[in-house]
Amino acid sequence: MSEVQSFYASLDGEVGSHTPGCTNRGACCKFESFGHDLFVTTVELAYFLGCSTGELLAPVDRSFCPYQQAGQCVARSSRPAGCRIYFCEERSQHWQGELTESSLHRLAAIGEKFTLEYAYCEWTDALRQLANGVIEKPIDSPVSLSIDSLRRRS
Ligand code: SF4
Repeated sequence: MSEVQSFYASLDGEVGSHTPGCTNRGACCKFESFGHDLFVTTVELAYFLGCSTGELLAPVDRSFCPYQQAGQCVARSSRPAGCRIYFCEERSQHWQGELTESSLHRLAAIGEKFTLEYAYCEWTDALRQLANGVIEKPIDSPVSLSIDSLRRRS
């Protein structure tokens, strides 16, 4: 948990150094209407699970993130790297790709250190698995995710 917390703090610092701005009030968290998907690593899911104190929210489908409520992210402190890096504004496009790549390397290294198998999963599929506490092959995804292993090692 502390390794991921440090990683997120460092990532937030790097993102902040670009002084990005958000004016869309969470439109990018409505994946279907915005036209993109969010992918996360097992390390981020383990951290998200470890930070969760209440009931986990299960998305009904892939169209939006259930943690966006009234235009606000209610999981802000444990949100994945993709949520921290992504800004839709034109002037923020040039730095995001490289930072995403380096972040994935850093997350993979944390997972390796704690023998957590690497997987890159679509966010709503993964949330549904976490909330239901079942192992289920993610829809249309080449990777499978063992929630049991996340629970055991988080
Ligand atoms: S975790 Fe927060 S920032 Fe990320 S998609 Fe969900 S509501 Fe949006």
